Amino acid sequence: MSSYIDLKFINLLSSRLSKFKRKNDNLFNFRCPHCGDSQKNKSKARAYFYRVKNDMFFKCHNCGMGQNLSNFIKFIDVKLYDEYILERYKGSSPSTPKPIFDIIKKPVFKEVNFIEELTSIAELSDKHPAKKYIIKRKIPEKFFDILLFAPEFMSLVNSVKPNTFPNTKGEHPRLIIPFYDTTGNLFAFQGRAFGNEQPKYLTIKLDETKEKIYGLERINFQKHIYITEGPIDSLFIDNCLAAAGADLILKVKPSDVTYIFDNEPRNKEIVKRMYKIIEKNYNLFIWPDEIQSKDVNDLIITGKTIAEIQTIISTNTHTGLSALTKLNTWKKCNI
Ligand SMILES: [Zn+2]
Repeated sequence: MSSYIDLKFINLLSSRLSKFKRKNDNLFNFRCPHCGDSQKNKSKARAYFYRVKNDMFFKCHNCGMGQNLSNFIKFIDVKLYDEYILERYKGSSPSTPKPIFDIIKKPVFKEVNFIEELTSIAELSDKHPAKKYIIKRKIPEKFFDILLFAPEFMSLVNSVKPNTFPNTKGEHPRLIIPFYDTTGNLFAFQGRAFGNEQPKYLTIKLDETKEKIYGLERINFQKHIYITEGPIDSLFIDNCLAAAGADLILKVKPSDVTYIFDNEPRNKEIVKRMYKIIEKNYNLFIWPDEIQSKDVNDLIITGKTIAEIQTIISTNTHTGLSALTKLNTWKKCNI
């Protein structure tokens, strides 16, 4: 009930908030009116409205400011605040006013300033090797601001998680892919090597309790959800998460989820996971034999468009017995 009023007032405020974007039904992102957000990058928006139970809250990941929606409205517009209070109390008996100023449970936010310090791919010159790499992989430009460049990856990791690397011998640059949860809170980041450095992908968790699932801050849980293994692959598919190896505990029906694994019929681990997906009644994409690409990004690089990929996925998606039959003939290993 109260959430309806909160959403109504967020809507009323939206035109006054710079770079305002609805991320999903309960998450909104914009530039922070308290601190003015990143001065270095005018396109960066680090402030969010997010939901806790029936109420909406404000949080800025740049200045750390956090408050309930009521106080945020008061800061922006006192008149609108009066209307908000009136609506919130309307219908409830005067003797039992609802405690709207109580913050029910304040989520713990980590300092994410180190991410703010990094240069995004969007900010790099087209001649920069990291940007050239991203362009070569045909990653959609709309994601250039959520992919970052770390010139000294090992030092960066050590500054966030001391002693991850005992020394920084072999220091090298990496692409940084930040993992945010549904409230826009950074909980992990992945460093992808540009060269032959091993491991090719290294994910650093800032919150050990969270599963390594990428893209949660952008997903619309009311729509069909796709899940790839790699974060980069997920950027080519609409409403897509990446969850390499993570056990996905989503409160969605299996029929509303399609898994897309890499094209590795000889990889026992992957084939095993595909069987598990079928068992749990999820939809499973099985690569058609005529396609040799090893993953979604590879398919894009060989010239397929995003629309063509969407068609390939939908025409080769199976569930239950039909998925089982397909998988049995597709796999090239003994499982
Ligand atoms: Zn702020």
